[in-house]
Amino acid sequence: MDRVKVNGKFFKKHIGEEQISCKVKKLAEEIDRDMKGRNPLVICVMTGAMFFAADLLREVSIECEITSVKLKSYEGTESSGRVKIDDTLKRSDIEGRQLLIVEDIVDTGLSMSSLLEEISKLSPSDIKVATLLSKPEARVYDVNIDYLAFEIPNYFVVGYGLDFDGYGRGLKDIYILDNNQL
Ligand code: 5GP
Repeated sequence: MDRVKVNGKFFKKHIGEEQISCKVKKLAEEIDRDMKGRNPLVICVMTGAMFFAADLLREVSIECEITSVKLKSYEGTESSGRVKIDDTLKRSDIEGRQLLIVEDIVDTGLSMSSLLEEISKLSPSDIKVATLLSKPEARVYDVNIDYLAFEIPNYFVVGYGLDFDGYGRGLKDIYILDNNQL
C-alpha cells in the first residue's frame, strides 16, 4: 500500500519493508562483529521499538540477554518533558554490563538523552544505541547513535512500531504524513 489512512489522517509510504529488512540485517552483522564475546544486555524501549527489536534480535547471532523498558514522564512540578525509566531495570542487572538500547526514533533527542542519563546511574560498563530512525533536523539534545537504520526528514511517521495515537504500529512499511490530506 502506497497510501494509508491512520486514525483519520493520510500517510504515504516512505520506506518499504524490503528496505527495512535489508538494513536490519546489516545492523545485526555490525552488532555481531562489535559485541562478540561481550554478552550484552539488550534493552528494547517499548512500545515503539518492539518490531524493530524483534526483527533485529532474530538476525543477531551472538548470545545476548533481552529485556525491555517503558519510559514515563516526570510528573507535577518536575514535568519538563524529560523521561524516567520504569522500575524494571535494576542496578544488579545493569552494573558492569555492556548495554545495547534499541529505540524506534530519535527526534529532538530528549527521550534518549534522559534515558542514557538515567541508565548511566546504574553503572553499566558501556552503552550502545541502536535506533530505527533519526530526524537530524529536529535534534535539540545531542545523542550518539551507534547503529542507525534510516535518517528521515522532520515529518511525522507511522508504521513498523511507530504509532499515531496508538494506531498504525502494525504497518509493515514506514509511512510519512501526507501533505495532501484529500
Ligand atoms: P524525542 O524525545 O527524541 O523528541 O522523541 C522521541 C519519542 O517521540 C520517540 O520515541 C517516539 O515515541 C516519539 N516520536 C518522535 N517522532 C515521532 C514520529 O515521527 N512518529 C511517531 N509515531 N513518534 C515519534
